[in-house]
Amino acid sequence: MDTKKSNIGWSDEELGASVDGYLKMLKLEKAKQSFNKTAEHELLREGALSARSLASVDYRMRNISAVFEALNHRPIAGYTAANNVGSVIISRIRRILEQRGIIEYQDNAPTSDEALLELRATRLQSEPIKTKPEGITAPQPVSTTSTSYVRDPEVRAWVRQQAAGVCEGCGVLAPFNLDNGQPFLEVHHVKHLARKGSDRITNAVALCPNCHQRCHRSSDRDAFTESLYAKIGRLARE
Ligand SMILES: [Zn+2]
Ligand SMILES: [Zn+2]
Repeated sequence: MDTKKSNIGWSDEELGASVDGYLKMLKLEKAKQSFNKTAEHELLREGALSARSLASVDYRMRNISAVFEALNHRPIAGYTAANNVGSVIISRIRRILEQRGIIEYQDNAPTSDEALLELRATRLQSEPIKTKPEGITAPQPVSTTSTSYVRDPEVRAWVRQQAAGVCEGCGVLAPFNLDNGQPFLEVHHVKHLARKGSDRITNAVALCPNCHQRCHRSSDRDAFTESLYAKIGRLARE
């Protein structure tokens, strides 16, 4: 596998495992205990990083060093900070380090990373905000790369035709019509594409925006997804 290609599309789980591996070695280094980088990489590859080569695990560790350096934290000596690390990866690693409590929360710092923005907003919401925020008069655009999947327009069209303007999740009419007169329903993949779900009518449902977000974000998302399998006969588990 060539290193560049193998660095595309790391999941949150893979990045999280890399950060945890890095933090483990950092702790050993600080305690002046010896460790073997290759052995640690192999250990990670027995778990969450089974799809990654030794070279790409090493590169990922050097990405983490780059984030540490940028934050004025001392990185592990054995991992020279990688150059030209993509801004999306930097934000994602930073977010994991925030979640692990390694770097200080800067909850009011602006960010273009939607997940980080949401994490910060959620934390800020836990305390009453005493002064009205000033906000940003002219938000700067940033261009990012993100993973998207090639999908079949016929699947999307068929599923929507089948739904005939009624959400397959809650059975309620679509909340509004589009300019072209079609009812607005979103096509959701019951087993997510990011989890290697297929783009077939046996894995796709037409949902109103509320039900769609419920599948992704609600505390009852697993039970709700189960109810879709029970309710919609054409769905097949993958
Ligand atoms: Zn619905
Ligand atoms: Zn979805």
